[in-house]
Amino acid sequence: MEQYDVIVIGSGQAGGPLAKKMALAGKKTVIIEKRWPGGTCVNDGCTPTKTMVASAKAAYMAANSGPLGIKVKGFSVDMPKIKKRKDEIVLQSRTGNQKGLETTKNLELIFGEASFTGKKTIGIKLNDGGERQLKANWIFINTGAKPAIPTIEGLSDIDYLDSTTIMDLDHVPDHLLVIGGNYIGLEFGQMFRRFGSKVTIVEKSGRIISREDEDLSEELTKILEAEKIDIYTNTTTTAFKQKKDGKITATLNHNGKEEKIKCSHVLIAVGRTPQSRALDLPKTGVKTDERGFIHVDDKLETDVKGIYALGDVKGGPAFTHISYNDYTIVYRNLLEKADLSTKNRPVPYCMFTDPQLGRVGISEAEAEKQGLNYKVAKLPMAHVARAIETGDTRGFMKAIVDTDTKKILGAAVLGQEGGEIMTVLQMAMEGGITYDRIRYCVFAHPLYSESLNNLFLGLEG
Ligand SMILES: Cc1cc2nc3c(=O)[nH]c(=O)nc-3n(C[C@H](O)[C@H](O)[C@H](O)COP(=O)(O)OP(=O)(O)OC[C@H]3O[C@@H](n4cnc5c(N)ncnc54)[C@H](O)[C@@H]3O)c2cc1C
Repeated sequence: MEQYDVIVIGSGQAGGPLAKKMALAGKKTVIIEKRWPGGTCVNDGCTPTKTMVASAKAAYMAANSGPLGIKVKGFSVDMPKIKKRKDEIVLQSRTGNQKGLETTKNLELIFGEASFTGKKTIGIKLNDGGERQLKANWIFINTGAKPAIPTIEGLSDIDYLDSTTIMDLDHVPDHLLVIGGNYIGLEFGQMFRRFGSKVTIVEKSGRIISREDEDLSEELTKILEAEKIDIYTNTTTTAFKQKKDGKITATLNHNGKEEKIKCSHVLIAVGRTPQSRALDLPKTGVKTDERGFIHVDDKLETDVKGIYALGDVKGGPAFTHISYNDYTIVYRNLLEKADLSTKNRPVPYCMFTDPQLGRVGISEAEAEKQGLNYKVAKLPMAHVARAIETGDTRGFMKAIVDTDTKKILGAAVLGQEGGEIMTVLQMAMEGGITYDRIRYCVFAHPLYSESLNNLFLGLEG
């Protein structure tokens, strides 16, 4: 049994930086990774998808630059090249992450799968054979999540894709059926439509991005349908069948009626499930919910003192920046004696469809549900000078404000650079800048954010 001060399991967006900081603070630290340093964001999530979204945007521009006076005579999509570019960018980031861990003093990187063997003891099945047993007083779990695969008749018999394997395709599917109309499904659906696939999206709720306000779902549906993406809502998939030639038939229940769709590829994008099972948590006493998400308090400590869980494995908003913020909370509390918690932290996020959806704070539906005294400011992108000039007026900006205090409570920007514009509003929220002040802020012309003046000029009071 080897003794360490700190054991970090998983080198995701919290684990890597935390291990480095602990080691640099003089703690004898080990980080255990079963696959690749950097975790989901670097290897299967943000980095590769946004790299491919950029290629899809280039294809879209090539096909749609006529109105800007640029004629592109026939273009083709080079999928192997798109994949190669993505792989190179991912590898560069992964290698950087690995080097960072390997060159930190007091830090050891072990490749293998970790599980608990006792309250504060860990066994590792090493990737290159053999086993090791370690113990430490502080243990940090950052094992992330993986694609959830639903139980549907025939699914396990077909060659379905998930958000990881779809990025290994070196060809453009003829017809991609996407199961799940949320962030991941929509990003991939639009991307492959732009690469040339016929795309059908199936969503079991009454609308896509069903956690967002209805007007956002409606606007995004229009935008995606304008790109000839078929969207079925109120639809469940009940069965799959694959022929010898590879063609797949999906049986759908659409508003209570059975329908069959033939497609060449199926992407399952119905959410993510925590990677906690292999940890053998009953051996230590760390509790999970029924889905396997680790239970933590608002300081990210589990039910066992000295064992913390960070990032997607603990449930809640599953974003890279949240996992990274988890690391800063834990690190600063433990080593800088800060008193930080996850309570009331802002949760901004961006969906990288084109146009993007940038979101922060509460939605209109949440304001209504909470019975707040609120007002909604809304501005179509068609009224934004910069959007008109660049030739893309799809979407709108929207902010929820407190009628009494004039504070901004939440914002949604569906439009070009929606994530960046949302961040300007987030800064105003964090700094307590009220909407009546933003009306008269001097913003550089003609930026998208300049239109925040007009967004709030539309509000009374
Ligand atoms: C397709 C896709 C697109 C995304 N796009 C965005 C985006 O644009 N913006 C955004 O903010 N977020 C995005 N996300 C989400 C984001 O990637 C995650 O929220 C983020 O990576 C946080 O992960 P984490 O730190 O919890 O752990 P992860 O990054 O998942 O890392 C966990 C690590 O633990 C390792 N591990 C697991 N079990 C063990 C074990 N028993 N022993 C040893 N090692 C183990 C895993 O191999 C993995 O490397 C996206 C996700 C996906 C799938």
